Amino acid sequence: MDKRIASPKQTQEIIRAHRFTLKKSLGQNFLVDANILNNIVQAAAIDAESFVLEIGPGAGALTQILAAHAKKVVAIEIDRRLEPILSETLQEFNNVSLHFGDVLKIDLDAILRKEFPPDAPVIVVANLPYYVTTPILMKLLMPNMPFCRIVVMIQKEVAARLEAHPGEKSYGSLSIAVQYLADASIVLTVPKTVFMPQPNVDSAVIRLDVRKDKKVAVADEAFFFRLVRASFAQRRKTLLNNLMNNLFSKNEKDAIQAVLEEQGVDPGRRGETLTIEEYARLSDALQYLDKK
Ligand code: SAM
Repeated sequence: MDKRIASPKQTQEIIRAHRFTLKKSLGQNFLVDANILNNIVQAAAIDAESFVLEIGPGAGALTQILAAHAKKVVAIEIDRRLEPILSETLQEFNNVSLHFGDVLKIDLDAILRKEFPPDAPVIVVANLPYYVTTPILMKLLMPNMPFCRIVVMIQKEVAARLEAHPGEKSYGSLSIAVQYLADASIVLTVPKTVFMPQPNVDSAVIRLDVRKDKKVAVADEAFFFRLVRASFAQRRKTLLNNLMNNLFSKNEKDAIQAVLEEQGVDPGRRGETLTIEEYARLSDALQYLDKK
């Protein structure tokens, strides 16, 4: 065992010594099980050449193990109150760079450009805050991100969305984004008892291996993702209504309807019934309307 890595018990003592109070509203359920922490790092296949991005280092329990294995770790944490704790738990490591801010608002491109060599593949590892799991994953899965692998702890029910198919309850924009870009697998399921404090839901560690070849070809990836998000914006509404309200405008109703019919997609269907192939076809056909 690397002597620079504190045991979960030691980390808890440091948290207590700093009189730190965990904030539920920030999803602060810290991992306190050394085996699970090690399993996550192993699943991410990190070696001495790896560049790692961690979201939400908390008190640094996972960060320390990542830093002991990787070439460099960049960690983004929203809660500045953790700064003195992280300075203490990470003091033995000179390959960790901390950024404080909301990962959803921060200029992630600029941080990645500043911290990592150009074109270097980056591995994301995190025990994600559960209140923002989906938006964070959607941000990480945006086109042109340099990530080759994403290994994260998320709620078990969200993990089910990754493999969901049209018509299933958990099928949504996250399912499509993941299936478009990556091969997804559930590495392990995790009981509530390994967290402090314990969350209300069970968890799972998932691994996304980002593919070089996309599942379907689309002319404009950014538009494809906007189309998918808009189609699921209000799940109970028809595709036509969602596209009118969330992507185009009411004036364009006839034009949208014509394109959908031309592509053999009934405008009265709901977004949750369309396959990824149908979305790709619609994306290529509708993008011209977007640019008009
Ligand atoms: N990595 C630590 C561990 O495994 O023990 C902490 C994980 S805890 C589930 C989630 C962490 O994400 C917390 O430290 C929390 O403050 C941070 N966090 C919450 N929302 C965030 C956001 N929008 N951007 C960056 N960090 C965030």
